[in-house]
Amino acid sequence: MFDVALLGVKGGPAIAPGSNMPTSNVVRVGDRVILVDAGLGATQGVCKQGVHPREVDTILITHLHSDHYLELGPFLHTAWVGGLTRPVRVIGPRGLGAYWDGFLVSMAFDIDLRIEDEGRCDLRGLARIEELSEGCVLDEDGLRIDALRNHHPPIDESYALRFEAEGKRAVLSGDTAYFEPLIEFAKGADLLVHEALLESGVDALCAALDLTDGRLKRHLMQSHSAAQEAGRIASMAGVGHLALTHFVPGADPALTPALWEAAARETWQGRLTLGRDGMRIEV
Ligand SMILES: [Zn+2]
Ligand SMILES: [Zn+2]
Repeated sequence: MFDVALLGVKGGPAIAPGSNMPTSNVVRVGDRVILVDAGLGATQGVCKQGVHPREVDTILITHLHSDHYLELGPFLHTAWVGGLTRPVRVIGPRGLGAYWDGFLVSMAFDIDLRIEDEGRCDLRGLARIEELSEGCVLDEDGLRIDALRNHHPPIDESYALRFEAEGKRAVLSGDTAYFEPLIEFAKGADLLVHEALLESGVDALCAALDLTDGRLKRHLMQSHSAAQEAGRIASMAGVGHLALTHFVPGADPALTPALWEAAARETWQGRLTLGRDGMRIEV
C-alpha cells in the first residue's frame, strides 16, 4: 500500500458553513502512517480514513502557517488519551518546538491530572521534535522522504516533500509560489499533489474577509501558485497524475470545479484530480 489521503483541501485557516477543512494529509506506506501537516480538522480527518490517531508514527509540518499546524497539539493530545504510549517523531521548521512547549504549558493542568488520576504516561515525552531541513529527511523500512525548500514568502522555511516507496514516488508541493526547482524535484513522479490558486477569485476573497488594503492580495499572489502554474510544473516534470489541493479561494461557491479544471487544463493534459476532503489517492 502506498497512498496519499487529502484530509483537508482548503487553503487558509478560516472555515465557514459548507467549506472544506484546512490542510492535512496522510501518507500510508505499508503499515507506516505519516501525517503531513496538521491543520484544523486533522484529528477527525485521520479517523475518517479508518486510522486511529495513535497509529500515526511520524508527523511532518511543512511550514508555520496556522492552516498547517493549528491542530498539532490537540492531535497528539487526542492520540495520547486514546492510548498512545510510544514516542512520535514530529519533524518541522524551527519554531515548532516553541509551539509544542507552549501547548504543553497551556494544557499542564489536564496533563498532570490524567497522569496522577488515571495512571497515564507523560504526554511531554511522546513528541520527539526534530528540525526539518532540505535533503533526506528519513530513509528506513523501504521508505525515503526528501525535502526541498520551496518559495513561500514571507516565510523562509517552507518545504515540498517527496515520498519514495515500492518503486513509486509522490511529491507534495507544500505552499509555494511557482517554483522551478520543483520540476526537477518532481521529475517523473507518479503523483504530484500541488497547491492551486484561482486569480479571478482573489478580489472577492479579500473583500469577504474585509482585508482590502492590498496586503492580503499581495501575499496570495506572491506566495501561491495559480492552477495554471501547478499544471505547468506537472507538465515540465512529466508526472503521471496531478492532484490539486490547498484551493485559494477555498470556500467560494462561484468558483466551480469546471473553472478550476479549465485553469489547470491550460497547461496540463494528463490525468487530473481536483482534491476533496477525505479523498484517498493511490500512488
Ligand atoms: Zn496554507
Ligand atoms: Zn502557507
